[in-house]
Amino acid sequence: MFEKIAVVGAGTMGHGIAEVAALNGYVVFLCDISEEILREAIKKIEWSLRKMVEKGKLGNEELTLTLNRIRTTTSLEEAAKDSKLIIEAVPENLELKKGIFSRLDGMTHPETILGTNTSSLPISEIASVTSRPDKVIGIHFFNPPVIMPLVEIVCGDKTSKQTVDSVLTFIKTLGKQFIICRKDVPGFVVNRILEALIQEAAWIVHRGEASMLEVDSAVKYRAKLPMGLFELSDYVGIDVLYSAGKAIQDRDGGVIVSPLFEEYYKNGWYGKKSGKGFYTYTGDLWEKPKIPPELADKVNLEEIFAPAVNAAAWLLRNNVVDKEELDKAVILGLNFPEGILQMADKWGIDTLVQVLKIKRSKYGEYYKPDQLLEEMVANNRLGVKTRRGFYEYV
Ligand code: NAD
Repeated sequence: MFEKIAVVGAGTMGHGIAEVAALNGYVVFLCDISEEILREAIKKIEWSLRKMVEKGKLGNEELTLTLNRIRTTTSLEEAAKDSKLIIEAVPENLELKKGIFSRLDGMTHPETILGTNTSSLPISEIASVTSRPDKVIGIHFFNPPVIMPLVEIVCGDKTSKQTVDSVLTFIKTLGKQFIICRKDVPGFVVNRILEALIQEAAWIVHRGEASMLEVDSAVKYRAKLPMGLFELSDYVGIDVLYSAGKAIQDRDGGVIVSPLFEEYYKNGWYGKKSGKGFYTYTGDLWEKPKIPPELADKVNLEEIFAPAVNAAAWLLRNNVVDKEELDKAVILGLNFPEGILQMADKWGIDTLVQVLKIKRSKYGEYYKPDQLLEEMVANNRLGVKTRRGFYEYV
């Protein structure tokens, strides 16, 4: 396997990826544009490792060894030299990433795999500036990489099986689980489903069909997601979700960003980090919005989740991902209590199709039920009630 790897970009994701790799025995060259940023990154890694020591998950000696495996540099060339795997984690900007990939292509061994941690940009377009598109791949860690158990592997149009296999071997050595997104579709698997869900919540509030607290209460206390969707948006960042949603919308219309998100984004109400998002925050790190459980019955879960199930059906029908991996993606990547396809089987595919049809008649073609869902209804694969849906039930 790879002995030395390089991580380009030492921000929120890059420092975490470097930490995970070093913890698992890799020598990591961490690269950023200034010594100051790199010092901060090492401080954060050390803080996180000390927390592990406090919790008895790591010995002091192991902490020192882990830190010693991380070298920092502002020279891309030095980071890339002799690395057989490079993971880029610079800001989500296509031109910036293309520039870095073009430079990496010129300065690395032809066999070196070039991975990107992008959450929304097309892998194939990043790969197109290199002479080795077969060795370019999406290696999508979730935030924070040290804690989140899932990595989404994303294939570009030309990514080779050999590249996928090598990266999977690497991911396994990190103790992480993975899913493979076989096609370079906007949003990949996890974010495509997340955006469909979050934007629908925002559309429902924008249209006055339910309040924000009613939606969050239903999602938290009835669907049993760990956070309400507006609470989650504040936590992830309304700016991040807005940009990722827009990227999907612009590329293939797989989601339509709601005016509510647009308004919050334009006003700079980004969520927890700016003190105001859908909820308001005083700055306390552990602060959580109050979501009253008694509002949980005011809105049907099917109304909120139907477009996300539709997005899931689209991914399955287009052979982007397997059904088991799709459910694994939402459980491990989004902390769902169970898979979205399992939930859909419980609600009933016919019910979800009906909800989509009503929304379509009121609000347009975005809500057209996916052909897969229509076929399931025609074949009486309605879910748990007919003992056959996405899964079989005995
Ligand atoms: P960030 O802004 O926190 O960090 C990016 C780092 O890249 C910064 O430290 C910046 O100085 C550095 N950088 C900029 N230009 C550079 C260059 N030319 N060479 C080397 N370093 C350079 O961003 P982030 O949140 O860590 O996101 C990084 C990538 O990961 C993005 O593609 C993002 O979409 C993706 N991602 C982010 C999250 C998340 O929750 N933040 C989750 C999954 C994926």
